[in-house]
Amino acid sequence: MIDFHCHLDLYPQPAAVAARAKKDGHYVLSVTTTPRAWRGTLKLAAGATRIQTALGLHPQVAHERHSELALFEVLLPEARYVGEIGLDGSPESRPHQDVQRRCFDRILAACVQAGGRVMTLHSRGAADEVLDALCRHPGAGTPVLHWFSGTRKQLDRAVAMDCWFSVGPAMVRGRKGSELLAAMPRNRVLTETDGPFVQVGNSPLMPGEVSDAVAACARSWSKPHLQAETVLAQNLRSLAALANGSPPGSLDAMSDR
Ligand code: MN
Repeated sequence: MIDFHCHLDLYPQPAAVAARAKKDGHYVLSVTTTPRAWRGTLKLAAGATRIQTALGLHPQVAHERHSELALFEVLLPEARYVGEIGLDGSPESRPHQDVQRRCFDRILAACVQAGGRVMTLHSRGAADEVLDALCRHPGAGTPVLHWFSGTRKQLDRAVAMDCWFSVGPAMVRGRKGSELLAAMPRNRVLTETDGPFVQVGNSPLMPGEVSDAVAACARSWSKPHLQAETVLAQNLRSLAALANGSPPGSLDAMSDR
């Protein structure tokens, strides 16, 4: 299964969870919320050909972690994927809007300098602001809007800007998420869990537990489940090729340099 946005390092037992994801053969983009978490999170993926680690600075911790921006810039040459980054427009983030925006701009500028990265982006309550920032930094790379929850109009703008999307089980449970999924170009859709922040019952969604999202894609595209999986696998190949700067190859291109 393809889980293009998962916080492996934030599960209660990260090593065990990562080992299980490796054993099960899931393709995981393991995102980080602070540059200081990068090295430790990278170790979780040691020996895994299908787990990639993204370098991030989550907007909701930007006000506490902005001093790690210099470390972000130092580490960026080692990272082919960036995230979780972006902006958060929820009421509790309002006091930190300026610092969030400064961090995001500096990260995007660093990505431009580095030649572009595949980036997994948080845009809750701030879709237009995130797209505006991407416009200010052409060449930052390929944006993947994770758990997009903006309006249809904002989605159309993102599509026109060549954004990709990762959709999870929680997003497609509601009508709005399903309608947004239907409007996304199907060659730019991936699945995600956003675990451990998404719960099923009392336990967090585990890496790769995306079958409800695959089922939603299948419904939306009027395809059998297996064919939807094939489309998603092809999408991952294309995106991994963008990250690797090479033509689309095998799925393990997600790991091969
Ligand atoms: Mn997340």
